[in-house]
Amino acid sequence: MSSTVAFSRYDSIAVLTLDNPPVNSLGASTRYALRQAFRMALADPKIRAIVITAKGRLFSAGADIGEFQAKPADSSLRDLFMEIERSSKPITVSINGMALGGALELALVCHYRVTTSKAQLGLPEVNIGVIPGAGGTQRLPRLIGMNAAIEIITSGKPISAKKALEVGLIDAILSDGPDFEKDAIQFARDALDKGGATNSRNIAFADLPEDPDFAANWTEKVARTSRGRTAPLRALESVINATTLPLDEGLAREADIFNECNASAEGRGMQHIFFAERKAAQIRDLPDDIQSRPLDQVAIIGAGTMGGGIAMNFLNAGIPVTLLDMSDAGLEKGLAAIRNHYEISVARGRFTPEQVEQRLKLLHGRTDYEAVGTADIVIEAVFENLDVKKQVFSELDRAAKPGAILATNTSTLDVNLIAAATTRPQDVIGLHFFSPANVMRLVEIVRARDSAPDTVKTAMEMSKRIGKVGVVVGVCYGFVGNRMLEPYGREAHRLLLEGASPEAIDKALTDFGMSMGPLSMYDMAGNDIGALMRKANKAAIAHDPSYYRMGDVLAGQEDYGQKTGRGFYTYQGREKGANLDLAELVEKQAAALGITRRSISDQEILERCMFPLIDEGIRILEEGIAQRPGDIDVIWCNGYGFPGYRGGPTHWADEIGAATIYRALIDHQNSLGDYGKMWFQPSTSLQKLAHSGSRIADLFSDN
Ligand code: NAD
Repeated sequence: MSSTVAFSRYDSIAVLTLDNPPVNSLGASTRYALRQAFRMALADPKIRAIVITAKGRLFSAGADIGEFQAKPADSSLRDLFMEIERSSKPITVSINGMALGGALELALVCHYRVTTSKAQLGLPEVNIGVIPGAGGTQRLPRLIGMNAAIEIITSGKPISAKKALEVGLIDAILSDGPDFEKDAIQFARDALDKGGATNSRNIAFADLPEDPDFAANWTEKVARTSRGRTAPLRALESVINATTLPLDEGLAREADIFNECNASAEGRGMQHIFFAERKAAQIRDLPDDIQSRPLDQVAIIGAGTMGGGIAMNFLNAGIPVTLLDMSDAGLEKGLAAIRNHYEISVARGRFTPEQVEQRLKLLHGRTDYEAVGTADIVIEAVFENLDVKKQVFSELDRAAKPGAILATNTSTLDVNLIAAATTRPQDVIGLHFFSPANVMRLVEIVRARDSAPDTVKTAMEMSKRIGKVGVVVGVCYGFVGNRMLEPYGREAHRLLLEGASPEAIDKALTDFGMSMGPLSMYDMAGNDIGALMRKANKAAIAHDPSYYRMGDVLAGQEDYGQKTGRGFYTYQGREKGANLDLAELVEKQAAALGITRRSISDQEILERCMFPLIDEGIRILEEGIAQRPGDIDVIWCNGYGFPGYRGGPTHWADEIGAATIYRALIDHQNSLGDYGKMWFQPSTSLQKLAHSGSRIADLFSDN
């Protein structure tokens, strides 16, 4: 028998143990082995009951997602579960950790479910653009009722063991320690003595909805939170089928819906991002045997917005932080902001007061550089000014211990120049966090010219430890994310002058799926910040007087956006409204620049903003600034609100085809006069892709 499922026997109980590291996925070999082990248990007359459990920290992450796109309709997980469901001997599933997707669906066909207190159970299929396809949408509602099942299935969020017990998904929470398996076997024995085992096939619905608006109400609710994704709605449709169709028909319909979702652009896009995130952790040109450096103590320089946010990530991960600012006042303000943030988290029930106390005990404020002497990694987040940063790094060079990693959170400055302010450029790296730094999952790890392999590796390890997605990028203005943002924002600003309203521009992009429209985003980030950055980079853009013109005009009259209550929009508390003075202001600027105003379609807005962004991504790949197209997609989906269901900019480009993008860029080049000629020049690789019909993913594949 294959080694992915072990068979052992304790008197009359057979124990089948999944053993397919790292996540005990239920791929072909495990399905085969489980079926063999199950049949062996059934065939043995001395075996009276079966326990299914797993080796390792988690029970199982479910189906092997890699098989989804490879085989359009893999029915064998369903077939296996049908066979297990008809077992003549009672089966207890003993869940020793996470049980997700197919793993929970396996548990649903069994008679009893027991867990440790730390176990988590969920059906996260909607997060990869599909629905539970091996019975989840039919059996879960039979077991726990419609409302609870819909909640779990359409949100994709796992629930705790405690909650699972409350809703009746599991029968008992057993001991957490080494006796867990022994206790599960005892549970199976006791259940055998009690008799009357039943499974979801034989359970009548607990709460069949009587309300005629039940389905409509849920549809409205799920549609509100799905934001352009269809999988949650298709999952809901399947769960609701369970109320009208007999189990086998419901299962057949579920399989059809699964296959439809899996073959959709959303299914492909979300599965692409799922794998791209895992691939991003692989760093090119690192020797296999490279060891990462210790990461037990952190120092952060600059207790401002970013410094405070970054600090909280480490505190939440249980890593002590020394936070340093240049003055007592700056430091106190930063510490107070962190305390305040945690107080809000307690009020919202996210943390207990004890958890916050534990975190704050790990935080130490200082104003002298000697304090960084014991840190394994120092992250600088002071003002965005090269001279200030160089000065900070020369201090760090003096005060940090040998081998400490010295990181900068700069968004635009040259990390090589910052590294050159030290005598140890091999230890210097960029760690570009995104705001709010305690929330946003992305960190661009900026590999500078001299960053040592173990410096890069440690930075990646650090991202994982604090629950972030790290993506390695090279040094250039704006790195990957902000460099691609630049043409996107440029076109959003220019379209205003050409005749589109801020509302129309933002709506075209939120309709596409961006979590926020570009002009709302600039209002949030602050038009002053953008204007300052452009001032520092004037020489590169001076040839176009219309470049981010309205952003500069608003900044000039102190309409910075959300923080001043006025920008492209007006703000009163959380209320956002139209800025009624803007149209006149824009018209004046357009007239001064000789730009004729016209009506602009949503399609043009989308193409003008998105296609130059994609082409910039292609240039970034040509230059080797990003390691692979998927990395760009991970950056945009995690740091810039690009819709995951479109798979990120390069994946989406491959879906619509390079030729479409190329042709549109040429059309805009021709129709926009000098402006078109200046900014709409397709890259060599885009041209090549358009002519050859191949994909960005293939041209820049690194497999
Ligand atoms: P901020 O103005 O809120 O905070 C900067 C802090 O650094 C202040 O508390 C200041 O007192 C302190 N400081 C300045 N010089 C110092 C010195 N020599 N020694 C010690 N402390 C010093 O700025 P921020 O928004 O937190 O940005 C910090 C860095 O992060 C910048 O490089 C910025 O480009 C980058 N960044 C910002 C964002 C963002 O959205 N705010 C996003 C990514 C990266």
